[in-house]
Amino acid sequence: MMKFATLAVRAGQNPNPYNGAVTIPVSLSSTYAYDSFGVMRDNFEYARTDNPSRRALETTLAALENAKYATSFASGQAASTSVLNLLESGDEVVTTSDIYGGTYRLFHDVFKKYGVRFTTAENNTAESIAAKLSERTAIVWAETPSNPLLALLDIAELAGRIENFRNQNGKKPLLAIDNTFSTPALQNPLELGADVVMHSCTKYIGGHSDVVGGAVIVNDETLWEKIRFYQNAAGAVPSPMDCFLLQRGIKTLPLRMKKHGENAYAIANFLRGRQNVEHVFFPGFDDFPGHKIVAKQMRGLPGMVSFCIRGGVREVSQFFGKLQIVILAESLGGTESLICHPATMTHASFPESEQKRAGITQNLIRVSLGIEDTDDLIDDFKNALD
Ligand SMILES: *Cc1c(COP(=O)(O)O)cnc(C)c1O
Repeated sequence: MMKFATLAVRAGQNPNPYNGAVTIPVSLSSTYAYDSFGVMRDNFEYARTDNPSRRALETTLAALENAKYATSFASGQAASTSVLNLLESGDEVVTTSDIYGGTYRLFHDVFKKYGVRFTTAENNTAESIAAKLSERTAIVWAETPSNPLLALLDIAELAGRIENFRNQNGKKPLLAIDNTFSTPALQNPLELGADVVMHSCTKYIGGHSDVVGGAVIVNDETLWEKIRFYQNAAGAVPSPMDCFLLQRGIKTLPLRMKKHGENAYAIANFLRGRQNVEHVFFPGFDDFPGHKIVAKQMRGLPGMVSFCIRGGVREVSQFFGKLQIVILAESLGGTESLICHPATMTHASFPESEQKRAGITQNLIRVSLGIEDTDDLIDDFKNALD
């Protein structure tokens, strides 16, 4: 069994048998010729259903999560939609209180009208999520670390609590983990008992802020066939060029995650000592709630730090205006450090009351640390805060 860094550059990436090309080609063809009537070559027929660029990417993604099946999508949202397509009207999804704003919007502004119910747990602990399970619960949806407060969830504990639960259809609710913030380099939820892993590949997996994509990864063949069926029926497929860019990004994922984590650790510690910083959220701190979960289920520190600046929107704005290296922008996981104001940017789709409940305050700032020189980043934060 190859180790992670080797899988990142070799899984699904053998030289082309016809011409020896070492890099997976961008297969732009929209259709594939039959060898003869009724006989397809390598099962390729029409590019929406499958194509060589996508198949190579999916082989790599499955290998990185140590899983059987991966399906790649046009975006993280398309990936989440395909999981929600498994639901029937009347089903319930139990979620945690701080999740990506777009996921919240997809749940409440799109799927609710089809009769799906969404129930929010008090916080991000396995106990509080399990307490919300009902006879209608078909899916439990969680992020760890969560967006934007980086709350940790013990996946194995939650999986254990769901294990013996049966809903009115006699089924165990599916445990779906949005693994975007951790990436498979740091955490493999399927190995911890989750049923579904979802990724926004736009973030760390692509890693260069130049492609939008998503993925759903599972071990169960029936589940995989259903997701594949919905994708082919609905059409939210990634382009071959997207697949190529994601495949290229993945090769350096282990290297990048190490540096993202180092920079996050350095910046979190720096921020903690500043008097115009009120609070720092970083799972790497010994006194961060659930800190032990990092060592239990992750192989390193995440590259994200959130903090509350002393003051309100005016101070946030002044601080943003002084940054020279760190870029004010949505998204995360790129080589360049990005900073944002969740209340008005990434989590603007949360109603005010939900923002309050989740702890998304007006002075909360989220940072995605890039791979720049650590000292340059510290200087940039220092100058802006001063
Ligand atoms: C960005 C993001 C998504 C949505 O993915 P897109 O690729 O933007 O559609 C979902 N979950 C998390 C945690 C994200 O950060």
